[in-house]
Amino acid sequence: MQKDFIQRYERHIDVPEIGIEGQKKLAAARVLIVGLGGLGCPAALYLAAAGIGTLGLVDADTVSLSNLQRQVLYREADIGQPKSRAAAAQLKERVSACDIVEYPFFLTGDNAADIIGTYDIVLDCTDNFDTRYLLNATCHAAQKPLVSASVYHHDGQIAVFRAFEGGGLPCYQCLYPKSDQLALAPQCKDGGILGPVTGIFGTLQAAATINEILRIGEPLAGWLLSLSTLDFAAQKIRLSPRPDCEICSNTHMTNKKPLVAANSGCGID
Ligand SMILES: [Zn+2]
Repeated sequence: MQKDFIQRYERHIDVPEIGIEGQKKLAAARVLIVGLGGLGCPAALYLAAAGIGTLGLVDADTVSLSNLQRQVLYREADIGQPKSRAAAAQLKERVSACDIVEYPFFLTGDNAADIIGTYDIVLDCTDNFDTRYLLNATCHAAQKPLVSASVYHHDGQIAVFRAFEGGGLPCYQCLYPKSDQLALAPQCKDGGILGPVTGIFGTLQAAATINEILRIGEPLAGWLLSLSTLDFAAQKIRLSPRPDCEICSNTHMTNKKPLVAANSGCGID
């Protein structure tokens, strides 16, 4: 074991639930971050700093002036640059050992399975329902945990989905079924957002990802955690699968968990 490795991660290694073996698992982990906006920037920063071995960065967008209010990986000099390139450069400066793979294009039905298949876990840091549904379906089929968060104004929510394990766990589409009403909903990405809220939830995604990789603590799978910074009220709600879910209902054929009604929701990167 290299001395630098021990020294760099000593504050992790001193945590009983992590230790040296846990830190080695983080170094061997491959994490895909889809969306390098307000959520993806802090998630990537903390996961790289935490010693994740490989980070995949998916975003087709370029950095704009209005991003800088919350997308903390980017500098004024990065305006006009592809986000995946600018993010990779900033992360490499901080953690040279982190293997970073850039995907400067949209995740689509044609490429999602091939990309996701090479990772251990996926972070949904996107701002639209189409990509969220694609991520959910692809991760479910590939049996990869999906750490999903969304933010709007002063509020945010986070959940972990791995319905492929059965055991009464829901998928994203159990929580937000596709509907005409949802399709007609205003584009959430056009709404306002308090910058620090994206920081809180992107960082929570990083923490949940580490817990999933190490399989430590009480899993967030099957729960929805929400928090508002207007009144700092937090809620943790138990979720259940929908028996008629077109994505995961086959997984639940053998269990008889009841249906839980879901609210609509949206997200801003
Ligand atoms: Zn489902």
